[in-house]
Amino acid sequence: MNVDPKAGQGMTSERTRDRLVRQLRDEGIRDERVLQVMRQVPRHLFVDEALASRAYENTALPIGRSQTISQPYIVARMTEALLGDDSLDTVLEVGTGSGYQTAVLAPLVRRVYTVERIAPLLEQAKQRFRLLKLRNIHPRHSDGGLGLPEFSPYDGIIVTAAPEGIPRTLVEQLRPGARMILPIGGAQAQALVKVTRTARGYDTEMLEPVNFVPLLGGVET
Ligand code: SAH
Repeated sequence: MNVDPKAGQGMTSERTRDRLVRQLRDEGIRDERVLQVMRQVPRHLFVDEALASRAYENTALPIGRSQTISQPYIVARMTEALLGDDSLDTVLEVGTGSGYQTAVLAPLVRRVYTVERIAPLLEQAKQRFRLLKLRNIHPRHSDGGLGLPEFSPYDGIIVTAAPEGIPRTLVEQLRPGARMILPIGGAQAQALVKVTRTARGYDTEMLEPVNFVPLLGGVET
C-alpha cells in the first residue's frame, strides 16, 4: 500500500472510514486488499469542502459539471471484480471524475492510466493524486471511448461512465484473458458487466443493476 497515511486524515474520518468498511463487508465485499485500501483513501478530499461531512456515507455525490463521485460500495465492487484473484500490472480507467476510483486502484496495481474528457475535473484529480503521493497514476485528457491504444494491451480496464453497448475499441485493448468491468445501458436501466477477452472474442457476465452517468464521445459498440 502506498497511500500516504498522513495526507488529510484526522481521527474523525479514520473512524468514519472504519464504519464505512464495516458496511461494505455487510454488503458483501470480501476482498481484504480492497477493504484495506477503502479504509485508507480519504474520500473527503475527493469532494467539495461543502460536502466533505457526507464523504463517508455510502452514496454517490455531485462533483460539478453534472458528474458524480461513485458510491463507495460500487467502487469496492468494481475494484474487487477487476482484480479477481490476480495481481494486475497495467490498468486503464475511463472516466477519472474526482479521481477517487483511481486512488483506490493505484495501491493495488502496478500502474494506472486514467482518462477524462472534462479538463477541469482532471486537473483537480491530478492535484489530489499529488497530495496523496500516488505516483503510479498517469492521467490523460482525452476521449476514453477510444481507449489509450499507445499503452495497450491492458491487464484490466474499468469504465466509470455507461456506454449503450460494449465498446469494441476497449475490448481490443485488453490482453487475452484480461477483464473489463463497466456499466452498460441507457438512463432507464443499466447493468454492471464483466467482459473477459478470449482468444476468439469475449465472454460477458452480468454482475448487478447500477446507475452511472453516460459515457459520451465517439464510442463504437
Ligand atoms: N470514477 C469517478 C466517476 C466519475 S463520473 C469517480 O469516482 O469520481 C464519470 C466520469 O466519466 C465523468 O467525470 C465524465 O466526465 C467522464 N466521461 C464520460 N464520458 C467520457 C469519455 N468518453 N471519455 C472520458 N471520460 C468520460
